[in-house]
Amino acid sequence: MGGVNSPVRAFRQIGGEPLMLVRGEGAEVVDTEGRTFLDFIGGWGALILGHTHPAIVTALRRALSAGSLLGLTHPAEVELARLIADAVPSVEQVRFTVSGTEACMTAVRLARAHTNRTKVLTFAGCYHGHGDSLMAGKTAGIPELTAAETLTVPFNDLAAFEDAVQQRSRELACVIIEPVAANMGVVAPEPGYLARIREVTRRHGVMLVFDEVVTGFRLGWGGAQERYGITPDLTTFGKIIGGGLPIGALGGPRRIMRRLAPEGDVFHGGTFAGHPLSMAAGIATLNELKARSPYGPMERLAERLMAGLAREAERAGVPVRLNGLGSMFTLFFSSSAIHNFRQAGASRRDRFGRWASSLRRQGILIPPSPFEALFLSAVHSEEDVDRTIRAARHAFASTRGELDA
Ligand code: PMP
Repeated sequence: MGGVNSPVRAFRQIGGEPLMLVRGEGAEVVDTEGRTFLDFIGGWGALILGHTHPAIVTALRRALSAGSLLGLTHPAEVELARLIADAVPSVEQVRFTVSGTEACMTAVRLARAHTNRTKVLTFAGCYHGHGDSLMAGKTAGIPELTAAETLTVPFNDLAAFEDAVQQRSRELACVIIEPVAANMGVVAPEPGYLARIREVTRRHGVMLVFDEVVTGFRLGWGGAQERYGITPDLTTFGKIIGGGLPIGALGGPRRIMRRLAPEGDVFHGGTFAGHPLSMAAGIATLNELKARSPYGPMERLAERLMAGLAREAERAGVPVRLNGLGSMFTLFFSSSAIHNFRQAGASRRDRFGRWASSLRRQGILIPPSPFEALFLSAVHSEEDVDRTIRAARHAFASTRGELDA
C-alpha cells in the first residue's frame, strides 16, 4: 500500500522518503523530525488562508463545542450554501458531500438522470476524483461495461471534442471538465475553448459540468466560470469551501438540482454530508475571502515567483515552461509549450525529481509530482517567494546533475 492513504503522498514520482508532517502554521509545515518547510502544497489547494488561520481555528472550536455531529440539518449548511450561491451565479442550490470525488460522481448521476442518456465525455489529464465513470482507463477494477460509457478526448483540442460530440450526441449525458486543468500540472484553456464547448454542448442538449474543486474560490470569488464568463449547467466544488476539512459540493439551477432526493429520484446522501465542522471552517474561509479579497496580491506574488523561477532556470541554462493562472502554477521541465496531457507527460520528470528534492533539502516543500500545482496562500509573503527563488537557483543547477544531484 506504500505507507500512505493517498498515492501522491508517497514521493514515488520524485524519489526520496515520504515526509510525515505533524504541524502547520501560516505558510509553513513541520515534520516529525522538527524540520520546518515553506509549504506550496497548501493542503492540495484547500488552504488558501494558510495553516491554522485564527478565524478558522476559532470557528472550529466554537462549532466543536456545540457538538461534532448532530445528525440533522444545521443552520451552517444553509449559510455556506448561501455564500456559494451568492458567489457563483450559475448556482442556485447546493448539495454538500464529503469529498470532491463524491460531488463529481453525483454530478454525473444527476446528468444521466436529467438527460436520460448514459455516456460521459472527459478530457485526458483532467481528474475528477476516483469514481468509476471518471477513472475509466486510469485504474484497474472498473468493469468494461462501465468504462465503455466514458469517452476521453485531448484537452485544448476542439476538433477532437466536436467530433466526439457529433458522433455520440444522442448518447452523451454530460461533458465534465476542469475549466483550468490542475491535475496534469496547470494547463489553461486556449482562448475561446471553453466558450465553444459551452456552445456545442448546449446545441446538443448535453450537460456541461465544470469541476471547480480546485478553481472554485481559487481563481477569484466566482471561480473559473466568472473568469472566463461561461455558465455551466452544474458545478462541483471541494477543497477551499471546506477550509481544510473534508468537503465537496454540487451546485446548479433549481430546476436541475431538485431532481436530487428526497425531492427528486436521484439518490445522494451521507452520514457526514454537510458536516458541522466542515461547514464552520468553510464559512470562516469564505467570509475571510469575501472581506479581504486576497486574490490580487496572491496573483502578484505568484507572478513574482514564476518570473523569478524563469530567470533562475534561464541562468542555469535549463529549459522550463511555467504554466500558471491566479495563485497556482506548475513548472515543467520542457523546452516546448504545454497545452495538454501528452505534452505534460513529455516533460523531463527526472529533472523535476532532482529539482523538487533539492528544494526539499533547502526547506521548501512543493507537491512531490511533476503533474500537480503549486499553491500560494494569502499568508505567503514576498520574503517567502524570494527565498524560494534563491533556493531554486541551486535546485536548477542540481537538475543537470552538476551539484547535489
Ligand atoms: N476534482 C478535482 C479537479 C480535483 O483536483 C480533485 C482532488 N484533487 C477532485 C475532484 C477530488 O476531490 P477529493 O480528493 O476531495 O475527492
